Amino acid sequence: GGMAKRGKSAEAATSTAPPPSPSPAIKRKAKPRLEIEGYPVEGISIGGHETCVIFPTLSLAFDIGRCPQRAVAQDFLFISHAHLDHIGGLPMYVATRGLYRLRPPTIFVPKYLRELVERLFDVHRAMDQSELNHTLVPLDIGEEYELRRDLKVRAFKTYHTIPSQGYVIYSVKQKLKQDYLGLPGSEIKRLKLSGVEITNTVTTPEVAFTGDTMSDFILDPDNADVLKAKILVMESTFLDDSVSTEHAREYGHIHLFEFMFHDISRLRITLRSLKTEPFY
Ligand SMILES: [Zn+2]
Repeated sequence: GGMAKRGKSAEAATSTAPPPSPSPAIKRKAKPRLEIEGYPVEGISIGGHETCVIFPTLSLAFDIGRCPQRAVAQDFLFISHAHLDHIGGLPMYVATRGLYRLRPPTIFVPKYLRELVERLFDVHRAMDQSELNHTLVPLDIGEEYELRRDLKVRAFKTYHTIPSQGYVIYSVKQKLKQDYLGLPGSEIKRLKLSGVEITNTVTTPEVAFTGDTMSDFILDPDNADVLKAKILVMESTFLDDSVSTEHAREYGHIHLFEFMFHDISRLRITLRSLKTEPFY
């Protein structure tokens, strides 16, 4: 997995020399914080092993991997596809939220997975004799769902070896129409009460998550908002010339080299070495 972003860099840099490294026994759990466009980002993405990308301030996780501890606190979960490194921790996610008496989570899955996921939970309920409370939302490509009054999600098509989809999270804001800017509050209130539509709804793509995909999603005209999002979380399992672009495509993945052929000059790319450690 990998991560790309556009816009102003929000990552902090330290100018002081690093302190001498303590011995492993007393080494504190370092938490290098990744923050992009004002959103803290946590999680893990190791191709074939585990992918779970968390936006704690939105209380959501994209894919669940093996259910890392930090995913448990998130109210919303979005599953991109059913490869086990992306969905394997699903029953544990629901069970652990139950254990901590957290609100039953809302889980979004590609529409075709609905029945299989329901059966998966039925099997676990039968074995575990627990409730495993949650709300399952099957979402088809192009469909939208209101998460909160100021937040919605839309599923978009991705291109992998099995059916897959990504998600765009939009902020939804009511903004006062140009004509009414500068009016006193009492006047605005009067207009509103008289039934005049004084606001426009402004939706902004904030965060997009692809899951595993070939680069074809970039060229899909229905996916324009994906590339407009402030943050694009995009897998790039293959980063260097140890593996060819053809090989990456054969396995349904992106090779970073492919981006040289796309007009994405506005896209600035943040690469984190995820092969060895999660970006908690
Ligand atoms: Zn996959």
